[in-house]
Amino acid sequence: MPTKTHSLSKSRYMKGLQCHKALWLLTHNPELREESESANQAFAQGHKVGELAQEIFPGGVLIPFDDLTFDEQLQRTKAALTRAKVIYEAAFIHNGVFVKADIIRKVCGGWELYEVKGSSKVKDIYLDDTAIQYHVITGSGLTITKAFVVHLDTSYRRNGELDLDKLFTHHNATKEVLQRQAYVKKEIARQTKILKGKIPNIDIGPWCSDPYDCDFKCHCWKDVPEDSVFDLAGNGADAFALYEQGVKKLKDIPLDQVKGKQLQQVETARSKKLVVSKKGLKQFLDKLRYWLCR
Ligand code: SF4
Repeated sequence: MPTKTHSLSKSRYMKGLQCHKALWLLTHNPELREESESANQAFAQGHKVGELAQEIFPGGVLIPFDDLTFDEQLQRTKAALTRAKVIYEAAFIHNGVFVKADIIRKVCGGWELYEVKGSSKVKDIYLDDTAIQYHVITGSGLTITKAFVVHLDTSYRRNGELDLDKLFTHHNATKEVLQRQAYVKKEIARQTKILKGKIPNIDIGPWCSDPYDCDFKCHCWKDVPEDSVFDLAGNGADAFALYEQGVKKLKDIPLDQVKGKQLQQVETARSKKLVVSKKGLKQFLDKLRYWLCR
């Protein structure tokens, strides 16, 4: 966790990119956080993939996170930079922002940066993640010649020994990372200011689950009732727009604002009668195959 000196870290910056209120709560009211099991599993999975990816560039120096203070990690990184060709989890700080880089590798003219993801494709959020690292690392004085997002190649089929060069794909993200630098600088300034102020006035919205389920949903969503507009199935009426208009429960949605399955849902919520679609049930059952339903 960042200390007073390190008011922002990479993970906090990323949290702030999703929602400034989440960043503020994480810093000032972390006890309101409720991590989901799926988030913990995703973290553990990401950690495993990260360790595996280190073998792409074996023999590097690891800068551990656990049991070391931020300053100790920075000192160890500084020492490793003078002798190592590859460093895992190197630590850097610039203008109070602390980051850890999955892998950096010494090359002619500087270092290459590798951000490892256990995903099958490059997402915008990964480029943002790499961009903040690039900003801090280069700001601290190190030259980064190229930045890569390393992700899984799902077309790879193992045949004998695990081939890491085929399991992982290296996406050269240097261009995208450089394009983001001006934004990163402005966003750091915004987030630093937000952390010094009062809790941002941000209501619930699509950003609560995009790109990740927010850890503070249990706090911010506490006034959302059961059978709410957010239980509307499929596309059609905008649940957040209804919520903003003060329509919170399914049964209160004006009928002229919904159609098809959503209309059926609202009518069911109003009548409180169970509706069974025999046709839909049959279609579902017909899809089941031996041996699931022998
Ligand atoms: S639950 Fe939504 S509004 Fe609340 S902090 Fe998270 S993203 Fe922001």
